[in-house]
Amino acid sequence: MSENKNLDFEQGPIRPPNEARSLLLRVTRNCSWNQCLFCPVYKGRTFSRRSVAEVQEDIRTIKKIIEDLKDLSWKTGSGGEIDDAVIARVFQSAAYSQAYRNVAAWMYYREFNVFLQDANNLVLPTAELKAMLDFLRQEVPWVNRITTYARAKTTARKTVEELQSLRLAGLDRVHLGLESGSDRVLALMKKGVTAAEHIEAGRKLKAAGLSVSEYIMPGLGGKELWEDHALETARVLNAIDPDYIRIRSLRVPDRIPLKALVHEGTFTPLTDDEAAEELRLLIDHLEGINSTVTSDHIMNLLEDVSGKLPQDKGKMLAAIDAYRFLPPEEKLIYRFGRRGGAYRSVRDLEDQVLRKKIERAIAEVRTQHPEGLETFLNELVDQYI
Ligand code: SF4
Repeated sequence: MSENKNLDFEQGPIRPPNEARSLLLRVTRNCSWNQCLFCPVYKGRTFSRRSVAEVQEDIRTIKKIIEDLKDLSWKTGSGGEIDDAVIARVFQSAAYSQAYRNVAAWMYYREFNVFLQDANNLVLPTAELKAMLDFLRQEVPWVNRITTYARAKTTARKTVEELQSLRLAGLDRVHLGLESGSDRVLALMKKGVTAAEHIEAGRKLKAAGLSVSEYIMPGLGGKELWEDHALETARVLNAIDPDYIRIRSLRVPDRIPLKALVHEGTFTPLTDDEAAEELRLLIDHLEGINSTVTSDHIMNLLEDVSGKLPQDKGKMLAAIDAYRFLPPEEKLIYRFGRRGGAYRSVRDLEDQVLRKKIERAIAEVRTQHPEGLETFLNELVDQYI
């Protein structure tokens, strides 16, 4: 019934968890830096910029898909709405391209946010990025929030005026991978940026009126630098006062370059208990800021380390302590439930039905892999990377 099922445009591999319902519009390909030891996302792929003309063509295609969807909706009795019936039709047929489906889902959820891909879009000349934003706002005027990833090093090179012009063209928020505020950790991880540059970038974005979202990575200091990592990250966050602090914990699967440091003995990953201590130290040292802390990544041990500073700091510390003070067997049940995707906070241990299932699963793993409970848990969580 739809005439243009094969309409397609380019999209990249990742987006922040909170942009799950956003339309993904690719303005650069892959990462212009691509050297961070902990990052598997773009390794082996070459960075390139997309031209204004290419991105404008994608925006025209998005508009055609929207028109096609509305047409389909009218023809099938949904009155121009992208409702359950239209979505079912699009998702049940293999004939529709993935990009077409993504636009359909975007129209269905009606949040109308857009996330610009890939890793470092502020590397584009300001005039080019502005032209892309202008065109998007012109062609799809009901777009709400527009957000992007960017590297702090690149952001710090822009003037406040340039960043302001992007805000005026419709950019609302920049997600930055702060990861750590420790210069020692940043150098070890080949992040290619210093704590001072992180602060400069965050402050410039705020001065330009943009919303700032900083990702931090518990565990990135390893056993060797965990205190420096926690204290310096808190210091840098205190200096920026970002709108959002988002927690995304380190994992070390075999395919990331950091694994080589583990093998040579220069980096020792933290256990879950140690990572909880480290996160507590960091949260405890957040002072004088008004950020919202979120822990919405599946790789985090505790999802309820979240809230608004300063008023929810005690609540966040209590959520960490609730885990820290569990007896060892309870910790194991919690970790098992969390890594399997069943638990979100220590309070979930009170669900007796779920607990019985998890206890049975632990007993089974103990029988089948007597020495491998920790390996099993690691594999369970690494499946999400
Ligand atoms: S800058 Fe970001 S995307 Fe690029 S390698 Fe580092 S963590 Fe990965």
